[in-house]
Amino acid sequence: MKLILASNNAHKLREFKEILCPLGIEIISQSEAGCHFEVDETGTTFEENAYLKAVAVTQATGLPAVADDSGLAVDALNGEPGIYSARYTGNHEDSDEDRNNYLLKKMENEEQRSARFVSCISCTFPNGDRIDTRGECEGNIMYAVSGKNGFGYDPLFQPLGYDCSMGELSADDKNAISHRGNSLRKFYEELKEYLNDHN
Ligand code: IMP
Repeated sequence: MKLILASNNAHKLREFKEILCPLGIEIISQSEAGCHFEVDETGTTFEENAYLKAVAVTQATGLPAVADDSGLAVDALNGEPGIYSARYTGNHEDSDEDRNNYLLKKMENEEQRSARFVSCISCTFPNGDRIDTRGECEGNIMYAVSGKNGFGYDPLFQPLGYDCSMGELSADDKNAISHRGNSLRKFYEELKEYLNDHN
């Protein structure tokens, strides 16, 4: 089966391919499908934003599309940055490094450092059907960045049970425990059931 990934994020595209291609699902990027737009994330939850991104591509192409809305929720910051993870500093032009420095500053005097990554997947079909799944990965915010793998807040996030950051894990090791790996594996199981029921 072929699915369009409703995202312009090259890191997400790579992780979707790494996780879903071995399961027999071909992922094509939004731009390869001719959708050169950015969807406004006007929802108030990860679930809503994932749906908005997927359904916009399904409506534009008439084909099934899948999207991930994801982010980091820090307990000491009442769940921030949450759905605002990609624009935490308030400036869309800022880099991952800027956002990591901003988060480190916010956590400067904080001893309670528990946090989780969240990924919500929404897959939309031309007939209006949808599949939604959610995955999480628990951990702690570190006191300094470490590691160059992955993207986003990976160098500041220490997964529970590990003595290194997510940014120090190989792609395979990250995908095995990550929020996106967890939500995509659930999605794969639900998609299989859906396709069985509709063929
Ligand atoms: P979205 O594109 O609106 O879903 O924003 C996702 C943002 O959350 C990214 O730009 C990162 O800042 C953060 N994020 C999501 N997933 C990850 C991950 O796997 N590692 C590190 N940061 C992530």
